[in-house]
Amino acid sequence: MLLDIFDPKAPPKPIGIDLGTTNSIVATLRDGRPTALTNCDGASLLPSVVYYSHEGPILVGRTALSYATREPTRTIQSVKRFMGRAADDPETQRLGSYHFAMPTSDADAKSVRFELGTSRPTPVEVSAEILKSLRQSALDQLRGVGGVVITVPAYFDDAQRQATKDAGRLAGLDVLRLLNEPTAAALAYGLEKQKNGLFAVYDLGGGTFDVTILRLEDGVFQVKSTGGDSALGGDDMDRAVAEQMLSAMGVTTDAERAPELTSVVLAAARKAKEALTTQANVEVELPAKGGGSTVFRLSRAELDQLITPLLERTGRSCRRALRDAGLTAAELDGVILVGGATRVPRVRAYVSEVFGKEPLADIDPDLVVAYGAAIQAELLATQSDDVLLLDVLPLSLGIETMGGGVDQILPRNTTIPAGAKATFTTYADHQTGFEIHVVQGERELAKDCRSLARFTLRGIPAMPAGMARLDVTFSVDENNLLNVTAVERTTGLSQTIEVKPSYGLSDEEVERMLEDALDHGEEDFEARRLSDARVEAERILLASRKALAVDSDLLEAGERERIDAAIEALGIAVASAKAAASITAKIDWLADVTHAFAGRRMDRAIQSAISGKQLVDVEKRVEHAAGIEAHLSEKGLG
Ligand code: ADP
Ligand code: MG
Repeated sequence: MLLDIFDPKAPPKPIGIDLGTTNSIVATLRDGRPTALTNCDGASLLPSVVYYSHEGPILVGRTALSYATREPTRTIQSVKRFMGRAADDPETQRLGSYHFAMPTSDADAKSVRFELGTSRPTPVEVSAEILKSLRQSALDQLRGVGGVVITVPAYFDDAQRQATKDAGRLAGLDVLRLLNEPTAAALAYGLEKQKNGLFAVYDLGGGTFDVTILRLEDGVFQVKSTGGDSALGGDDMDRAVAEQMLSAMGVTTDAERAPELTSVVLAAARKAKEALTTQANVEVELPAKGGGSTVFRLSRAELDQLITPLLERTGRSCRRALRDAGLTAAELDGVILVGGATRVPRVRAYVSEVFGKEPLADIDPDLVVAYGAAIQAELLATQSDDVLLLDVLPLSLGIETMGGGVDQILPRNTTIPAGAKATFTTYADHQTGFEIHVVQGERELAKDCRSLARFTLRGIPAMPAGMARLDVTFSVDENNLLNVTAVERTTGLSQTIEVKPSYGLSDEEVERMLEDALDHGEEDFEARRLSDARVEAERILLASRKALAVDSDLLEAGERERIDAAIEALGIAVASAKAAASITAKIDWLADVTHAFAGRRMDRAIQSAISGKQLVDVEKRVEHAAGIEAHLSEKGLG
């Protein structure tokens, strides 16, 4: 008999989950190294597929996938694409061969439901089945499961993130945090390699594409910018190949495309595509219209041609991400490949063309995200979460001011978690209410941005204009969820709302909103850059001053003077600069003179974390620059 001896007092193990569109993975740290756990299929990759049988039992993974052809409408694939989507979202209708239930109430309309006759699960419930299965696998292998970190595409909006968190809870998991997939990948690479520099993470999965520009410095990750498209991936390559197959089969009209047929052809297309990763040609036998069969041939060169438009779309996102980070491709030290679709040889070649260098792929691109999630889960469980893992806001958040303008409170690309406060005053005499309209987007006018929430603070005593003071605080947590609080200072009246949009913002919308803002011309763009640079500078100034106060004993002779000089110069630049470049130059200067000091602070933080002295002291020391900060603006509000 094999005795399995384990410590009954061993604490539950934290786990990381990559909840992918196509495949999901659960991983944990074993002897300090990330390892993928074996799932119910006996493999690492669990197909993100859920089959709802007529009899009741729900199957997940490979077994579920085997029903895809026979019962495509009861076999839910790529459910991630539906997360946080409203029933009437055009994207919902465009995808898959599912039957959707008609919403029966307004609350119902907030989420799609799959009509299965016997049940009507939401995407959250379907995802929870995948998570439950992974949780069970982890329980079987680890005995106790602690908190979990679940990854999401960087481009996921609030509704999609909220839905993911809900799915985790529904699966009985203690969700410590959601983590952007590319950030997780960088964490896996960074911690293993201890490399400094600027990196791009190119993640092409089955259904999502993300590109992220990161700075890795002394174990500190900072996301400089993110971009991508949550409706682009290997599935689209399959669809392109499937179209060729269908025409070879003589299937031309929509009426001929029965769900069962589409499903068979898509599976064949995927197989052909994957085969072309290792071979130059592939042959597939397909059923022909009107009986018999036809042999379909595809060469790697033909596949390359078919996927060119898809690759070009990724290229555009890459260039935009670089532009947002204020970098050129040449400044990057490396490119990390993530996602199964990056195995396609043409994809790798394309990535090296776009960035001008060979991408890194030493960590399995299928597992790297789950590895990063496991590492992050461990860090959170051991309280050393201030690994300075910084994510950024995808779009600016602000409120509408008198006259329909927008006062940006948290600009796009602000690192999160983050907070900011703005102070407003009454516009008219005897104004007894403030209307607060929270908007998201880059345009100057509120009507061109997306409306997130509207609420009114009433009951303010009549005062002359400008007397009442309204503090509006925005805080975005690590999961990218926004909380807005408004407090009237003289009366203490307050109101708080959590902004959970009832429907998601599609990537096309994000793209469009960004594009609109860019179309507004170079001037607008430069003004935004300048205001971004100011905010960034202020954040850095605040962090530097805090660091000097807390760890002044770590300073070496002459260092304080050099830092003070740089701080002063940056302060002047913030107040007077007309162009972003003059501020960023001073930011770089300050970064240069504080680099060694920051390294010593990091060492100290790590030392104290290791010796178990956590709590406030350590937290303070390793506190990252993205803490709550206040920038005040005084504007009239209607
Ligand atoms: P997701 O993050 O969306 O769950 P994955 O990272 O698991 O997706 O990637 C899945 C995609 O990778 C699918 O489109 C699959 O066909 C593709 N893929 C997996 N292996 C290969 C391969 N050897 N060659 C080409 N594509 C592959
Ligand atoms: Mg993935």
